Amino acid sequence: MTLTTEKVKCLIIGSGPAGYTAAIYAARADLKPVMYQGLQPGGQLTITTEVENYPGYPKGTMGPEMMEDFKAQAERFGTDIRWGYATSVDFSGAVHKVIMDEKHVIEADAVIIATGASAKWLGLESEQKYNGFGVSACATCDGYFFRGQDVAIVGAGDTAAEEATYLSKLCKKVYMIVRRDEMRASKAMVHRVENTPNIEVIFNSETKEVVGDKTVTGVKIINNKTNEVTLLNVSGFFVAIGHQPNTDIFKGHLNMDENQYILTEPDSTRTNVPGVFAAGDVQDHIYRQAVTAAGSGCMAAIDAERYLSAKGKH
Ligand code: NDP
Repeated sequence: MTLTTEKVKCLIIGSGPAGYTAAIYAARADLKPVMYQGLQPGGQLTITTEVENYPGYPKGTMGPEMMEDFKAQAERFGTDIRWGYATSVDFSGAVHKVIMDEKHVIEADAVIIATGASAKWLGLESEQKYNGFGVSACATCDGYFFRGQDVAIVGAGDTAAEEATYLSKLCKKVYMIVRRDEMRASKAMVHRVENTPNIEVIFNSETKEVVGDKTVTGVKIINNKTNEVTLLNVSGFFVAIGHQPNTDIFKGHLNMDENQYILTEPDSTRTNVPGVFAAGDVQDHIYRQAVTAAGSGCMAAIDAERYLSAKGKH
């Protein structure tokens, strides 16, 4: 197949809070950004319901609507927003090449990667059915909706331990479902969980099914040693079994950490390739909030603008 080629000044890959914020800043700096939205236009916020912690929305807003607002603001300043996703890259030359949908080559002076990360899920049908209706992969985002109630969280790493502790401050009771007889989390985090009276760790247990009517009312777990099935009456079910940054196409092209998050220089969004910047969850496994992603999207556009100016390309 013959590939078509197009030259752009600033290419943004991904359309979550990081990508759209980068687009707003890049467009206003006259970088004429072209954005490819990716496989999930709007990113992770489009699979959540209410967002109450994003500043500027005192009454809260719905995740999908918020991303429409972000998009409208990016379009207002002239961002060229397109359907499509990046299928491969070549960052070896002076001009960066990104292949879109395996058929269109974008040659960009500056590239901002904002492809985000995806929460890992257990893969249960019932988990998918109640996603956003009691099932969540982000305690910081959604814990507030369950204050004073009983919830369960699955996972045993640092994220699960941290989120269980966070939930314990809001909720009446937190069941932590751990599939082995020990937790993977660091000693300090395990210690904190063990010393929180309203967290009950249930070892050797796996989730069989999330149950509910319109929203979650419980979760059935099975003890993998005894096969005993127990129903936990909870109104919230949090999945904290890790995240996967969406970086497959950048492997071998950019420096990454051991979990495939893109490495950026401290206090910047610069990757190891000049002219390639990374913003949002694709380079942040710690904060993972819409507002922090938006902040780093802003940084990426400013970094890109300064890079292009220094190169005499802007
Ligand atoms: P991890 O990969 O460390 O842990 C994932 C956890 O989920 C493991 O306990 C794993 O169980 C469990 N799990 C995976 N699949 C399933 C499943 N199908 N059913 C039940 N349980 C499952 O991910 P995290 O997000 O916790 O952490 C990612 C990285 O970020 C780590 O390096 C962590 O240290 C770091 N981090 C650091 C923090 C900090 O320093 N404050 C905070 C948060 C994260 P098992 O143990 O049996 O494999």
